[in-house]
Amino acid sequence: MTETVEAATAAIPGAGDHNQLYLGGQWVDPHSAATLEVFSPATGVRVGSTPEADAADVDAAVKAARASFDSGVWSSVPPAERADVLDRAAALIEERSAEITALVSAEMGAPASAVATLQQLPGTGVLRAYAQAARDYAWVEYREGLFGVTRVTREPAGVVGAITAWNVPLFLVCNKFGAALAAGCSIVLKPAPETPLIANVLAEIMVEAGVPEGVISVVPGGAETGKALVDHPGVDKITFTGSTAAGKAIGASCAQNLKRCSLELGGKSAAIVLDDVDIAAHGYMLAFFGLFNTGQACVAQTRVLVPRSRQDEIVEAMVAAAKTMTVGTPDDPAAQLGPVISERQRQRIEGYIEAGKAAGATAVLDGGRPEGLDNGFFLNPTIFTGVTNDMVIAQEEIFGPVVSVIAYDTVDEAIAIANDSDYGLAGSVWTADVERGIEISEKIRTGTFGVNFYAIDPGSPFGGYKNSGIGRECGPEGLEAFIEHKSTMLPAGYQVPQSS
Ligand code: NAD
Repeated sequence: MTETVEAATAAIPGAGDHNQLYLGGQWVDPHSAATLEVFSPATGVRVGSTPEADAADVDAAVKAARASFDSGVWSSVPPAERADVLDRAAALIEERSAEITALVSAEMGAPASAVATLQQLPGTGVLRAYAQAARDYAWVEYREGLFGVTRVTREPAGVVGAITAWNVPLFLVCNKFGAALAAGCSIVLKPAPETPLIANVLAEIMVEAGVPEGVISVVPGGAETGKALVDHPGVDKITFTGSTAAGKAIGASCAQNLKRCSLELGGKSAAIVLDDVDIAAHGYMLAFFGLFNTGQACVAQTRVLVPRSRQDEIVEAMVAAAKTMTVGTPDDPAAQLGPVISERQRQRIEGYIEAGKAAGATAVLDGGRPEGLDNGFFLNPTIFTGVTNDMVIAQEEIFGPVVSVIAYDTVDEAIAIANDSDYGLAGSVWTADVERGIEISEKIRTGTFGVNFYAIDPGSPFGGYKNSGIGRECGPEGLEAFIEHKSTMLPAGYQVPQSS
């Protein structure tokens, strides 16, 4: 241990030093001697530490998950009862909202208010949406087949290995737990090494809500721990949220072993502003959807496509909005945007800003490092104009508070620019005519889209086209990603039960 955790931080439940792993619903001594240290990217204060799980720890977690799955202790529980457990977990998270948002704030630096809105609300929402999907799902169905009646059943996929990113850990962990548990799977979660502590808290809440022993394990660690989970033969399905580069490596490994796999990856989404937009009404949100969570969002709308004829007033409104977004530490009640996750990431973002300038773009808002926040990795928002879609800043995911404004002359050109991306995760259109917006939504190759707004809806499919991933999360489609389908052919003359 490098230093003690300061008293105020240590008082947050889940923070501080842990010397055990939460495996199979119990705290157990790790095999690994390695430790993960967590420091606040906002203040530099040490938040705590946890053992870093090695391959032997992953093996123990997978074995516990396998045993619990095969025993039927959770996989055979009626779906409606599993749904009740998820609803209880959502309520417990709400009861402990203050401590949970404080822990997430401490780990990733975002203001607690932003954690509450951007992570807790969709996190509890997704648990409840999976609960409802499990209640409504057609688990058993009888079909009139070619040779008689076929009984089609939907069964849990088995042992799930889940790997998550650090940028919205509360939401991502709820999302993984919710889907796998609603389906009846057992789950081993590897949280991001930057934000491991909240995962333990959420796993404990799941167990308190009624998930039986053995079903949930948390194996904190980095890529090596993740690889051990992906390659473990006892894992039936991998669900991954993170970068496209890691997703490709994980997908390749799963393909080698014919392991089921869904991938939620990066994005470079476009907001298309139409010439009829009411910019006084929408200017703030246009800037917000590029900059929220300090731009560290897979769905951030970091390319804003504007009609050349109205470019100046739109940019003016966005710059004015961005200037009102206060950057600060979690203890600053006025703060809306926190730091970026690390010094390495801050320098990478600054490199992109330099690349944008070198390519000829103009930083009409040239954020830079804010004064007086020297203990954290802070950056003010930057807005570029004069960007063309072939520039690196328009093609690559920056994952920081940098928005590129690209001017267009015709709507067809705007649609082509929006689609000219390796990614296909999200997007939006801003217009006085919602029907016109819906028409445009049908021409954009992304998994989600918004008209005059954007959000992930926990009850509707979320995921990406192209390099943004494979598969869908949320709603019944998200549940189905954790299901195997089985057809049982029944003998001639079989009478289908009346209740079906
Ligand atoms: P990352 O890919 O570096 O890491 C994500 C997770 O994968 C971490 O837990 C990491 O330890 C683990 N990991 C990395 N390499 C691995 C490997 N080869 N095998 C197994 N595990 C491995 O991503 P990051 O920097 O933590 O997160 C930012 C990225 O996540 C961005 O690209 C962002 O767009 C994406 N993201 C996507 C979504 C979505 O739903 N589509 C949501 C949030 C974040």
